[in-house]
Amino acid sequence: MFETILDTVEQDRLHARIYGACAADVAHVLRKAHCTPDDFPTLISPAAAEFLETMAARSRQLTTLRFGKAVRLYAPLYISNECVNACAYCGFNMRNDTPRTTLSLEQVLAEADVLHRQGFRHLLLVSGEHRGFVPVAFISGIARQLRETFAGLSIEVYPMETADYDVLAASGITGIAVYQETYDRARYAALHNGPKADFSYRLATPERAARAGLRELGIGALLGLSDHRTDLALLALHAGYLMKTFWQARISISFPRIRQAAGNFVPSETVTDRQLAQAVFALRLVLPDAELVLSTRESQQFRDGMAGLGITRMSAGSRTNPGGYSIAEKALEQFAVDDCRNAAEVAAMLDRKGLEPVWKDFDRCFLA
Ligand code: SF4
Repeated sequence: MFETILDTVEQDRLHARIYGACAADVAHVLRKAHCTPDDFPTLISPAAAEFLETMAARSRQLTTLRFGKAVRLYAPLYISNECVNACAYCGFNMRNDTPRTTLSLEQVLAEADVLHRQGFRHLLLVSGEHRGFVPVAFISGIARQLRETFAGLSIEVYPMETADYDVLAASGITGIAVYQETYDRARYAALHNGPKADFSYRLATPERAARAGLRELGIGALLGLSDHRTDLALLALHAGYLMKTFWQARISISFPRIRQAAGNFVPSETVTDRQLAQAVFALRLVLPDAELVLSTRESQQFRDGMAGLGITRMSAGSRTNPGGYSIAEKALEQFAVDDCRNAAEVAAMLDRKGLEPVWKDFDRCFLA
């Protein structure tokens, strides 16, 4: 289990490696033909900020080599904003006294139909963490309805047991996204209340999902909760472990920055655009085969700049409230979207940059 590995990491020492790296250390790493995960602390260090252009060029080259010009597009579909947790930084926090909505099956299908007509064939079904409002049987019913029209159906709901993932996999769910948020246990404990406060259970979730045969495993850290460089180093370690252990699955990495949400949480650190760009390049250099994801939380300018430089998956035209595509109820948003362009506009941007927007890259017939 990854937790066993995480427990062997001396985080003070890791922090010292990151903040103690000098320009000569970075130059040495960048002279190597192939960087390894052990180089990540140097590449994410403050000293490496001076080498951003060199890192960008290496990242672009590696991305083209491994992924060609393809950038996969997906859309989040919010099913419910009910949640049993009280994460300090989230608009769905159960303590926020704001309107709550859970879509019916018919409403979910109507939302999916809008997204299908926009061209999407990969959906991320999202909800707050509430088994009562969004039980496994409900997700399973949605998947059975959508499996023929969508090539990829991932979920970002709540951590489950492998037996639940078995049921979902049989119904047509293809992947999960579950972010650890921060790998700093003390900070994690301070920010989370409810079932999500169980750090270990959450950390092992991708492994339980992989054992059910789900082929897409998405992990991530929410930058701004703790020292972002240390979190990214541990996120890279986690991704490397999953890639090696569950080599049949595609591992994707998300590293959103905190955005304003209801509750007005103040982050412990503000991650700048340059620092986020450095994170993209450092991750690509040490994990050339990982999918790197950039959502509409980030600005249009930043997303356009990063396309082709390391990012291989993007959301587009996102609504982060249940019913946001077709019902337009004024339910609570999970976070504010920054890039408000629609899907066609994002695809056109990729085209202009010589990249290939990919709406569908899998078909169930490949499994036959
Ligand atoms: S981050 Fe997730 S678990 Fe936490 S309050 Fe928001 S929706 Fe609920």
